[in-house]
Amino acid sequence: MYAEIIIPLALPKNYTWMIPASMQEEVTIGMRVEVMLGANKRYAGIVKNISSKAPEAFTPKPILSVLDDAPIVYEHQLALWEWMAEYYMCTEGEVMQAAIPSHLKISSESVFILNEQQEQDIKNLSDAEYIISEALEIKKTLSLLEIQKLLDKKSVYPVINKLIQKGICFVQENMKDKYSSKVEIFLSLHADYKNEAALEKLLNEWTRAPKQLDLLLAFLHFEKTEGSVQQKSILEKANATHAQLKALIDKGILVAEKRKIDRLATDPNTGNTALHTLSEKQKEALESVKAQLLTHPVGLLHGITGSGKTQIYVALINEVIQQNKQALYMLPEIALTAQMIRRLKQYFGGSIAIYHSKFNPNERVEIWNKVKSGEIKIVLGARSALFLPYKNLSLIVIDEEHDPSYKQQEPAPRYQARDTAIYYANQLKAKVVLGSATPSVETYFNAISKKFGYTYLNERFSTGALPKIELIDTKKQPAGTAILTPQLLASISKTIANKKQVILFQNRRGYAPYLICETCGWIPHCEHCDVTLTYHKAKNLLSCHYCGASYPIVNTCKACGKQNFKQKSFGTEQIEEKLNQSLPGVIVARMDLDNIKGKNEHDQLIQKFEQRQIDILVGTQMVVKGLDFENVDLVGIVDADSLLNFNHYRVNERAFQMMEQVSGRAGRKNDNGTVIIQVSQLQHPIVQLVQQHDYFGFYNFEIQNRKHFSYPPFSRLMSLLFKHKENNIAEEAANHFLHSLTPEIQKTVLGPAQPIVNRVRNKYIWELAIKISKQPQQLQLAKKQLIHYIRLLQVHPRYKSVNIVIDIDPN
Ligand code: ADP
Ligand code: ZN
Ligand code: ZN
Repeated sequence: MYAEIIIPLALPKNYTWMIPASMQEEVTIGMRVEVMLGANKRYAGIVKNISSKAPEAFTPKPILSVLDDAPIVYEHQLALWEWMAEYYMCTEGEVMQAAIPSHLKISSESVFILNEQQEQDIKNLSDAEYIISEALEIKKTLSLLEIQKLLDKKSVYPVINKLIQKGICFVQENMKDKYSSKVEIFLSLHADYKNEAALEKLLNEWTRAPKQLDLLLAFLHFEKTEGSVQQKSILEKANATHAQLKALIDKGILVAEKRKIDRLATDPNTGNTALHTLSEKQKEALESVKAQLLTHPVGLLHGITGSGKTQIYVALINEVIQQNKQALYMLPEIALTAQMIRRLKQYFGGSIAIYHSKFNPNERVEIWNKVKSGEIKIVLGARSALFLPYKNLSLIVIDEEHDPSYKQQEPAPRYQARDTAIYYANQLKAKVVLGSATPSVETYFNAISKKFGYTYLNERFSTGALPKIELIDTKKQPAGTAILTPQLLASISKTIANKKQVILFQNRRGYAPYLICETCGWIPHCEHCDVTLTYHKAKNLLSCHYCGASYPIVNTCKACGKQNFKQKSFGTEQIEEKLNQSLPGVIVARMDLDNIKGKNEHDQLIQKFEQRQIDILVGTQMVVKGLDFENVDLVGIVDADSLLNFNHYRVNERAFQMMEQVSGRAGRKNDNGTVIIQVSQLQHPIVQLVQQHDYFGFYNFEIQNRKHFSYPPFSRLMSLLFKHKENNIAEEAANHFLHSLTPEIQKTVLGPAQPIVNRVRNKYIWELAIKISKQPQQLQLAKKQLIHYIRLLQVHPRYKSVNIVIDIDPN
């Protein structure tokens, strides 16, 4: 028997190995097996197919060992991988690389690290396992080669696999980012008092130690409102001492337990909050979505910001889990999952888990297994949550479906997770609900073409009206006030005086996006990229936002030798500084990539803002998306022009979505929401449409443009990038490639052209953009040709070192 095996590498195809007679009983589709590639590379690959037919041209090597007792992926997942590789023009190995957690990937390059948190009972270990775990205790990390030497044999994958399963070591994903998880002490109520009568009795009969009672009441309050209670934060919030807490623990009222703080998967909280009662409008919307899904595979829920779309998803998900099926709730970004999980845990408790690529590998495997067995019913996650082994997935909710982050940019597979989810759901006979206040043009087009169901919810839950929007003309401002105009400052002061909060949005981080020599016009650029350097004041350096390189501040012009630099434009850092200068005593925090590193920092800042410890939150896109703050009355878009002035067919769509979404953060719980947009192009159609909150006007305007220029949804786009250290080789390769295509396909190609940023990390970039009809045959034909000629280019003596990147349906 022979097996086709997927190896987590970008290989041109899957290869075949022989299944030795001794393993024929064991080997099953979806299991991992150890195979040798070339003379000495070993990989854990996944069996995709088993057949009795031997390959014709060569004699396959045998499989070396079987790593699993049961498949780790379902066959429907393998089918999805195959489709993704085909559609997005990458390899199944690349999809596998993205799809499975690092623990399940082992290769010759793997490094295994000791799991310091696990204490092992050596009785449970085999001799070989014991040898390796001892060596790990001493050395902390071991390479595959070292393990082979220690055991004096080549085939060591089964031993490693067992050690990983037993939690003794894990696979280091990346030499650079070692995972370290933070352990915190969490408090919970002792089981004796979980029953309400017992608790009531305890509280009523409390006589002495009033401080302990205060602490207990504070604990009960936070457990109710926040789900889980950390020792550190409750002592702070309740202003209590360790001695008081210890007394409660000694009395057997509270229990303290060490837990990793991101161990959300196993949160013991049960989730007992009853679902909210839906408003009449929400009920209608819910019924409409359900009805649409009877006849459509996909339903769009178009609900204005603050209309309570989440409550509708919750109701839909609830029905799914009542039937003992699984649901996936997707958000465009990891950062958003933290606030949402706190909201969802109230209803679903332990049956919901969060899954994304920033999770610790142990936990990812744990969730993986629980999803596979069906124990976890609901998964909240970003793109990669689509790859979990669902046992019976029946609903996928894609919140903020318009968000460009659903598209993976780098590395391959460059997939659109929303579109992939729609395909996958179809295969699984599951349903998809897309939700947005500003649906993407393609999605709304699909809805009015009746391909998707459509439900419109046009009322905010608590107030009805959307915030009013004021435009401020930045051309008419006194010198030096363009960043914070007097009107904006006055509104901010008024809002804060009313004990309300403010969000200011600016889509650029740093202090100043570039410096310019006032004498000769020279602008400092990155040495490796064609990008101007952003000035970061606090860090006192210049930084390239494309490759991350940083440079000391330049004072002397490299072109003319003068010392006459001026800062141009402004980023979030400068806004923060100006606010601090203009409004002393007001608490300002900044949320952008520079000061938010891990997901915990992001969530901590959000929680601080929720708890009103911050008056003004200044940030980039991070503050725009889906967050729900009840106390924000004022939102300011500091520089709308920067959203309107770039050269991309989606510029209008992105600008409208961004402005409407950021406006949606204002006045979510009352009628006093105000949005201020500072802009010089007051008459710009998008600005006017945003001011009216006119989505339909926007769509009608935009769809005309798309039709006129035959952009999506009237065509499909593909982008091919040719990258090389030498500009002329990249350009020639693109031309050579273009001219090898048939005339029909050539007609659909734009370029070669240099993208706006035409050099990144020392490589010059030339692009071919292909605009092709949506007809499946045409697309198929084009892809076939592209693959063929890419292969030829890859062996062409002059162009084989050109790096080719294919992007289907690029952002
Ligand atoms: P959207 O996602 O549509 O912008 P959300 O789902 O975040 O809106 O809802 C906005 C706010 O209104 C949230 O704070 C939410 O808890 C509240 N809300 C919405 N519907 C209800 C309801 N039926 N009962 C109570 N609160 C609700
Ligand atoms: Zn100069
Ligand atoms: Zn750079």
